[in-house]
Amino acid sequence: MSTSVELSNVTRQFGEVIAVNDVSIHIQEGEFFSMLGPSGSGKTTCLRLIAGFEQANQGRILIHGQEAAHLPPYQRDVNTVFQDYALFPHMTIEENVAYGLMVKGVPKPERKARTQEALDMVSLSSYGKRTPAQLSGGQRQRVALARALVNRPRVLLLDEPLGALDQQLREQMQTELKSLQRQLGITFIFVTHDQNEALSMSDRVAVFNRGKIEQVDTAKALYNAPKTRFVAEFVGSTNIIAEQLALRLTESARTFSIRPEHIQLDPVQMNPSTTSHPDRLSVQGTISEILYHGASTRFNVTLDTGEQLSAQHTNALADRPLNLSTRVSLSWLPSAMVQLDGAKS
Ligand code: ATP
Repeated sequence: MSTSVELSNVTRQFGEVIAVNDVSIHIQEGEFFSMLGPSGSGKTTCLRLIAGFEQANQGRILIHGQEAAHLPPYQRDVNTVFQDYALFPHMTIEENVAYGLMVKGVPKPERKARTQEALDMVSLSSYGKRTPAQLSGGQRQRVALARALVNRPRVLLLDEPLGALDQQLREQMQTELKSLQRQLGITFIFVTHDQNEALSMSDRVAVFNRGKIEQVDTAKALYNAPKTRFVAEFVGSTNIIAEQLALRLTESARTFSIRPEHIQLDPVQMNPSTTSHPDRLSVQGTISEILYHGASTRFNVTLDTGEQLSAQHTNALADRPLNLSTRVSLSWLPSAMVQLDGAKS
């Protein structure tokens, strides 16, 4: 597989702020690649550098092997879909989609055919004569997508494209975007601060923190084998086993992450055997909070030694009752503990 977009040691500074700090990424052709991170972590700046709306202070950007530094946005084989759609309100949907082709001087018959093709791709072929105000939010988002696809780019850059949609529509559009990407086979570079969105759609995800990339991996690897405390906490929720507790449990003064669903929770009096199971590590404590989530329940437990741990259990119809202040044993397999790099608790 060939490289679609490559960033090598790219830095972008705005005055004192280092928005993107020595970032290197290789994005493969046809990949669904997400840039995930909290607000201000540099993901939009990174996307804008690829699009050509920003220039790097240092480092190289290659698009399909070609040095991009001196190419203006319109000469790069990429197109951007923005969060606010940026549709022209006075133009029809067809005119909005055809606009870029008109500016490029594409002859009218070809313009018409390609506009229709792009509207077909996003299932809006019968909406061409409407104006943006006559469409729903999800439909407007699809027009923005068609407007980028009409240029037949090899790379589509998407900046929080689903941010303005309500949850249900957002999930529906996630499925549609994913299947469109698979069908077209073009590279998608997708910016989001929503970890579920990134995990469910992407082939690989880059996790940004303060202008740097903490980890680039598949969704499964990020979740099951986070390398840093930041990734463990930002991608899903987790328990951090700090050095002191780790030392007592494993005789190793390192920091670990363990996902709440990997911790088994049993009332102490009902199942004393769990605590003495040779394969499992265990601690005891008292339930301090119960958070019901429908499909699962989260139990926050205060350990006898003062630390807090959370266990998450899938709810079944005939669950045993576990109440606040119940004495419990928490146990897990040592393999569920993931050691984190350089994390200080
Ligand atoms: P969000 O999810 O809020 O869009 P982000 O991760 O995309 O955040 P960026 O927009 O890339 O983050 O911003 C990274 C940092 O660079 C922030 O501190 C931001 O304030 C700063 N920044 C971005 N653009 C500019 C600019 N044109 N001038 C000055 N500072 C900027």
